[in-house]
Amino acid sequence: MSQILHGLAVQTEILLHLKPRIQKLSRPPGLAVVLVGHDPASEIYVRSKVKTCAELGILGETVRPPETATTEELLAIVEGLNRRQDIDAIMVQMPLPGHVDTRRVLEAVAADKDADGFHPTNVGYLVAGRPAPRACTPAGIIELLKYYGIPMAGQHAVVLGRSDIVGKPMALMLLHENATVTICHSRTRNLPEVCCQADLLVAAIGRTAFVTEEFIKPGATVIDVGINRVTDAAEAARLGRAEEFASKGKTVVGDVHPLDMARVARAYTPVPGGVGPLTIAMLMTNTVELAERHLCSA
Ligand code: NDP
Repeated sequence: MSQILHGLAVQTEILLHLKPRIQKLSRPPGLAVVLVGHDPASEIYVRSKVKTCAELGILGETVRPPETATTEELLAIVEGLNRRQDIDAIMVQMPLPGHVDTRRVLEAVAADKDADGFHPTNVGYLVAGRPAPRACTPAGIIELLKYYGIPMAGQHAVVLGRSDIVGKPMALMLLHENATVTICHSRTRNLPEVCCQADLLVAAIGRTAFVTEEFIKPGATVIDVGINRVTDAAEAARLGRAEEFASKGKTVVGDVHPLDMARVARAYTPVPGGVGPLTIAMLMTNTVELAERHLCSA
């Protein structure tokens, strides 16, 4: 019987430890979220971030430029937030509209207000193993593995996906935990064989149920980062989600086949309810840590 690694339990624990740290500060930590346009998924994510801020006593402010905002206008907004004393952390909700220079906007966020850990300075600190805001999703996965006592040191970890926000920082964080790390991507040959060597497999590719039985070593721990919406009844049934599909007309699955994962892995994160809640918990952690830094150096 495999163990389910619940992200909500870890989120609750992380937020619980943040509360007394927030209460000790001379003013509430401030997080500004820049949400451009009206992407429905982004609206849901931002609402839940702002709600979590309110529950914790963090000032959560949403800045809402229109879909038509230019790169220059967004840069001006970010610069304004960089200057504000009551804002400790800034996150720009992705994706930005196609006409916007995403890299310029993200890099305009001051390194010491970088809620997401995307700024090149903070990426450099991550490579060097020095404290700095860290990318929220992989940082949350490390917290989850620690919470459940899943060993990392000396284990062979395979990270499937090499994005700047998940795959690469995940690989670096596992390396700092003394795992032996392999990174795979779309050009990797013999993908199932490579993945099948993993004691710890992290899948972050954005492909519905791509990782099947032959990718998973029996007894491995599998972390499924993917969030993929399934809108086809036959596909939902094949993935064991027929009932949910019948009631909601859709379902969400990860990058790993849910039935295969439950059968072959020793422990795994479900989708939904696995990695998702950790991302918010680590966004709050980064915000509090930045506020502590700002207030203690004020
Ligand atoms: P990206 O699209 O930025 O990166 C995907 C990566 O997967 C790339 O490195 C790509 O390789 C690799 N890849 C794609 N297809 C294949 C394939 N067939 N075989 C091997 N490798 C492949 O995605 P993200 O990292 O941003 O996100 C990945 C998933 O995680 C998405 O489903 C996303 O929604 C989800 N996510 C979930 C979060 C959460 O909080 N739960 C947070 C962030 C993301 P290459 O570089 O060669 O193109």
